[in-house]
Amino acid sequence: MQQYDLIIIGAGPAGLTAGLYAGRFQINTLIMEKISFGGQITLSSTIENYPGFPGGISTHELMDKFKAQVDELGVKTQDSEVTEIIPEKQGAGIFYRVRSTQGDYLCKALIIASGAQARRLGVDGEERLIGRGVSYCGTCDGPLFRNKEVVLIGGGDRAVEEAIFLSGYANKVIVVHRRQEFRASKILVERAKNNPRISFVLDSVVRKICGENRVESVILSNVKSHRETTVECQGVFVFVGIAPNTDFLKKVLQINEAGFIITKPDQETSLSGVFACGDCIEKSLYQVVNACGEAAVAANSAHKYLFNLG
Ligand code: NAP
Repeated sequence: MQQYDLIIIGAGPAGLTAGLYAGRFQINTLIMEKISFGGQITLSSTIENYPGFPGGISTHELMDKFKAQVDELGVKTQDSEVTEIIPEKQGAGIFYRVRSTQGDYLCKALIIASGAQARRLGVDGEERLIGRGVSYCGTCDGPLFRNKEVVLIGGGDRAVEEAIFLSGYANKVIVVHRRQEFRASKILVERAKNNPRISFVLDSVVRKICGENRVESVILSNVKSHRETTVECQGVFVFVGIAPNTDFLKKVLQINEAGFIITKPDQETSLSGVFACGDCIEKSLYQVVNACGEAAVAANSAHKYLFNLG
């Protein structure tokens, strides 16, 4: 069985930053990623609040740069999905067996940077019409809705960013949000409000997504008056937050009710030698910039743990 000092699970901004620091510490490291590197930030087209790039930068370009920097250091990356972590006592020390779709690997320390994915709305018609008008990614599916009308649900950064992006394709983007105030930053909300192709239906939720083979309409309900209205549309974009990719850790790590990993200030989890960072942990802000900071701390802590540096 192949053995590494450190295995990093996930190759989004957090995983790649941890890889960069581990590479510079010259730790024998493997990064494992289940889909492709870059993480869910690449579901947005541009990022405007990562320092150093006035005017913003394409998320793909930014993640290509992250990956190139890790490759420069010769850190190994591998496509495989981790399915289980098994702590194993060996002599006085503890090793972690990482079970994956490519087989088992052994390591002395782990950094979990497995990120999160789009949360489902959980309404009637949603699952059945995924890929038939229901989408969780404007960048991926926006061009399919050229000159069409779409409904977009959510009031966070992602929802408002995506509404602006989709207005480049769709004739009409109707943002449905369950209250009056937005979680999204003011600068984004102002920009969306000034966009003639974007309109808002506030204090409202989606009750049902309708359509035989493709999305044809949504039924909305006003949370105050309980009045229901039907809005015709060809697309429904859902941006109602994130759910962490931590199912494979539930048996071994301390996680909160929503599935986010609980970490200490040095990014260590409830298991000694296992650190976590990025969108899979419990915290107050989910941005690329702090995911990178946490990853640097996690790699530094893993370095100290591996080489008994106190
Ligand atoms: P978010 O900030 O958690 O916002 C989720 C939105 O969905 C909220 O407005 C929420 O309403 C609404 N919502 C949740 N459940 C709902 C339901 N069942 N029905 C209707 N609406 C519902 O999530 P996000 O926009 O996906 O962003 C996730 C994280 O990534 C955030 O921390 C965000 O700041 C971050 N992000 C960062 C960047 C960047 O670094 N540039 C870009 C995009 C996103 P309430 O407000 O009423 O709760």
